Amino acid sequence: MKIRLPDGKELELPEGSTARDVAAKIGRSLAKEAVGAIVNGELYDLFKPLPEGATVQILTRKDPEYQQLFRHTLAHVMAQAVKEFFAGKGYDPEEVKLGIGPVIENGFYYDIDAPEPISDADLPEIEKLMQRIIKRNLPLRRYTLPREEALARYRGKDPYKTELIEDLPEGEEISFYEQEGFTDLCRGPHVPSTGKIPPYFKLTHVAGAYWRGDESRPMLQRIYGVAFRSKEELEHYLWQLEEARKRDHRRLGRQLELFHIDPMVGKGLVLWLPKGNVLREELIGFMRDEQIRRGYQLVTTPHIGSLELYKTSGHYPYYAESQFPPMELEDGEAYLLKPMNCPHHVRIYAMRPRSYRELPLRLAEFGTVYRFEQSGELHGLTRVRGFTQDDAHIFCTPEQVKEEFLGVLDLTLKVFGTLGMGDFRVRIGVRDQGSDKYVGDAEHWATAERQIQEACDEAGLDYTIEEGDAAFYGPKLDFVVKDVLGREWQLGTIQVDYNLPERFDISYKGPDGEPHRPVMIHRAPFGSLERFIGILIEHFAGEFPLWLAPVQVVVVPITDRHHDYAQKVRGELEAAGLRVEVDDRPERMNAKIRDAETQKVPVILVVGDKEQEEDTVAVRDRRTGERATRALAEVVQNLAERVRTRARE
Ligand SMILES: [Zn+2]
Ligand SMILES: [Zn+2]
Repeated sequence: MKIRLPDGKELELPEGSTARDVAAKIGRSLAKEAVGAIVNGELYDLFKPLPEGATVQILTRKDPEYQQLFRHTLAHVMAQAVKEFFAGKGYDPEEVKLGIGPVIENGFYYDIDAPEPISDADLPEIEKLMQRIIKRNLPLRRYTLPREEALARYRGKDPYKTELIEDLPEGEEISFYEQEGFTDLCRGPHVPSTGKIPPYFKLTHVAGAYWRGDESRPMLQRIYGVAFRSKEELEHYLWQLEEARKRDHRRLGRQLELFHIDPMVGKGLVLWLPKGNVLREELIGFMRDEQIRRGYQLVTTPHIGSLELYKTSGHYPYYAESQFPPMELEDGEAYLLKPMNCPHHVRIYAMRPRSYRELPLRLAEFGTVYRFEQSGELHGLTRVRGFTQDDAHIFCTPEQVKEEFLGVLDLTLKVFGTLGMGDFRVRIGVRDQGSDKYVGDAEHWATAERQIQEACDEAGLDYTIEEGDAAFYGPKLDFVVKDVLGREWQLGTIQVDYNLPERFDISYKGPDGEPHRPVMIHRAPFGSLERFIGILIEHFAGEFPLWLAPVQVVVVPITDRHHDYAQKVRGELEAAGLRVEVDDRPERMNAKIRDAETQKVPVILVVGDKEQEEDTVAVRDRRTGERATRALAEVVQNLAERVRTRARE
């Protein structure tokens, strides 16, 4: 058989040759280094026979595909170790039955039906057994069996594997991988021996998983593991995991009393507690100031709308599965909990004839909407059923799209800049030229796509263009923000829309006296306040900049004698608009400081005899790191200025 190498060279090999044979033919050192191959664009191991005429690229440990190979082999090694683990407890290894064990992002898992529940506490022991299997450097072997023979092996003994084989399409090759007597039905690919697995892995947790994701089937135990090429990568990942756990907004939300989700109120419905509500109000205030400065007009619309409205907009029935069902009234009237603010704003536009002189018309609202999310999808503040958008709709002429886009980009950059989220990328979603799913005039589309790019160029933004990523009703732009842990969040979508103006048949009178169709731009820099605050809590680990902090200053009197002075300090700070608490509990000073630190209060002011006498305060500022004694008046002025300018710190 003939094989082609990436450089175009051809090799002649015996029928049934594998990537291992190709590597050996190229050279002895490559044969030693080889861990797998890319064959006609597909990942292969060194065992699987190559197809005639294939293009073969040999992979070594340096190639990124190596990770997939060893992660999958690790899943097998883990399954073998679990069998050994139960053998050590006196069970027959056959009693440990295996479901599926795929590679996932950063690692792998295996679904296991074990004779006894496996707990997180068992994982270190299983890891030890795995390390030993790696050290023994066991060679893997691949072989295939005819369907009937494969079935005969499992029938009556292992219902999972039996079912998997039965589900394979007729004629499909049924392959097995074996190492030291441990055999698994598996498509592969794998590294050639367990010694080729880097020993930098960790089993992270055990979770229940229904067989094939079906709630009516047995519950198996899924053991998750992460695995990397180097110790550094593993340690970095584990640090990230631990940091993410510490920063989890649900945990901090409880600890700092920011929000509460109460089962009696309802799933996915957020109760903002007084401190969390401060965050909300501050963000709304920030956005309101910025919008008013940029010529937006604020409106308020109700939380429900008639079903007619949403039939006209198309939100019903096209998005019905993500909405709460309509409320039917006796006289045939029906209402929907508002899933989107747009139709309400369109009707504000449509209330009277409009002239081109009124455009662009920018209507903004902190509008609360309701979406039906499956209960399994709900997650703290980031996936909820009711949330408030910093929504706005810009009605403009087709020629004004670029200018308006620039304005929105400027606003969005101001938001991210103020909140210290400077690490982001920009994605522009345009049409797939070959598709006919898009509504609106092709010429307008082309103009809008060009205008968006020009706006990004003028704003000096780097961007990628994603073909086919536009909505059916218009091109869009997304900001994808990276948080301190390197996780990406899609925020600040801007969307051009030709469809809604069409559906509602809105128009403006042009300079030519004729009616024209306006373009709509939907935009929400925060997106949802709930989700955004969830992200902010994790981004700042609950340590907000001064202007956002629910409690900005705690005054700590050293003894009872200093209570009056502490109250005076509070009074002056409050008069300057700051949120202040005095900790006058009969506790020791250090305990009070520690409590304020646990609550992540940015500024602690300690007052004692000396401060009282000299009208000063001892400052402990966790945002700036400052520790000094300063004149009270100076401190008040400085803090008020930081709040007024929403300083980033
Ligand atoms: Zn496998
Ligand atoms: Zn909208």
